[in-house]
Amino acid sequence: RVRVRFAPSPTGPLHLGGVRTALYDYLFAKNQGGDFVLRIEDTDTARYVEGAEDYIMEALEWCGMIPDESPKHGGKYGPYRQSERREIYDRNLAEILKTDYAYLAFDTPEELDEIRKDFEQNGEVFAYNYITRNRLKNSLTLSKEEVQKLIDDKVPYVVRFKMPVDRILNLEDIIRGKFSVNTNTLDDKVLVKNDGMPTYHFANIIDDHEMEISHVIRGEEWLPSLGLHYLLYEAMGWERPQFAHLSLILKPEGKGKLSKRDGDKFGFPVFPLNFKDPVTGNISKGYREEGYLPDAFINMVALLGWSPADDKEILTLDEMAKEFDLHKVHKAGARFSKEKAEWFNHEYLKAKPDTEILSLLKDIEGINLNGFDDEKLLRIISLMKERATFAKDIYENGKFFFEQPTSYDEKAVKKAWNPETAETMKELSSQLETWNLERETLKQNIHTFAESKSLGMGKVMMPLRLALVGELKGPDVPDILEILGKEESIARINNAVN
Ligand code: GLU
Repeated sequence: RVRVRFAPSPTGPLHLGGVRTALYDYLFAKNQGGDFVLRIEDTDTARYVEGAEDYIMEALEWCGMIPDESPKHGGKYGPYRQSERREIYDRNLAEILKTDYAYLAFDTPEELDEIRKDFEQNGEVFAYNYITRNRLKNSLTLSKEEVQKLIDDKVPYVVRFKMPVDRILNLEDIIRGKFSVNTNTLDDKVLVKNDGMPTYHFANIIDDHEMEISHVIRGEEWLPSLGLHYLLYEAMGWERPQFAHLSLILKPEGKGKLSKRDGDKFGFPVFPLNFKDPVTGNISKGYREEGYLPDAFINMVALLGWSPADDKEILTLDEMAKEFDLHKVHKAGARFSKEKAEWFNHEYLKAKPDTEILSLLKDIEGINLNGFDDEKLLRIISLMKERATFAKDIYENGKFFFEQPTSYDEKAVKKAWNPETAETMKELSSQLETWNLERETLKQNIHTFAESKSLGMGKVMMPLRLALVGELKGPDVPDILEILGKEESIARINNAVN
């Protein structure tokens, strides 16, 4: 059975790269009729951030990626928080210590620092590896009795992986294909810290095994650890899952990894939801709060590194799941584009039924819809949505519907208003009193009015628009008149004239 896990560490808000990893995990699992598991990797207590786990869960839910198993939903492979799996790690630690793949190391951090400095003085970089371990304080160099005495004296120690010497590892990645590494280039990573907690590497392979994970899909920053992970499976005598490492999401200009600061610099969020840092109180902006629709957001993220067969761009989560293919995920990094993100939102917004956009509009905080009824609001929506990226744009771009102009755009006045215009507008406004304010009739009437004055349509429409809107933009004037109604329209024309 295909089982895929998303295994974030609760060290802060999920960023775009994390969302994409979760999404590919989800899409692959669903495509294969498998399970999507959320596992919280919280063994590093020093980097734990309050609220991060809840944030991750909420973000996944907002995106529509509901895990089949998680700390919240439970499941038969639980617990799903590493901090609650200590017994499982202890049991497996005892197993690996029976093999020749692990050893105890008693070097204190201070001692290691000393050695590191010595190396640096000689222009070298220290690594705890097949060369140096033979001179350090560990169970490979000390006698059994010495080791036992240190343990009895409660001297702290870590457990390290004993990297084999002179072996070529043939590794395989679904996206990158085959490659090999020489074990002499790898060091003896710590598997269990001196507080008894496993490190990422050890906990990760234990959990993937115990949870029967079939495919590990994760960021390319873990590619250098793949050799170690292969050997850990070998040491434990376990079958290993298949691996796929995803390329970076790149800055808009194409070079380097997209960072949190790029978001500030270019004015787009790099997180799915707002996140308030519990320590500094700073708020990182989220796509949800910026007004992005979850389906647009997730569609945009999916195409950062994958394209469906026919290069179709607009796909629902279910459609993506049907088409998703790990082998088609791009090897090269995907460049983030704010314009593209906005384009997706625009496409999704305008495809929504107007009634749905209406509830989005009503949900926006701090705007005044001036008591307009739904019928009027729906007309405004249908007129304005073509030019809107976000629901709030319908309000922003159509503000003149809700508020009288308080000033008139200077350039527009120059263009649309001449000494005779006030007279024309006065006359028009008194005729308006008697007209039926329905767009087709209005068109006809304004036309007749212009002809009777021997004026071109523009000479009437432009100043009229200026009076109603305050500038020369917006939908057709008859539509505006109809929505504003007689009283309001006449008031605005009179204001402009005086
Ligand atoms: N906890 C790791 C991370 O947040 C998981 C990496 C993996 O998926 O193996 O990057």
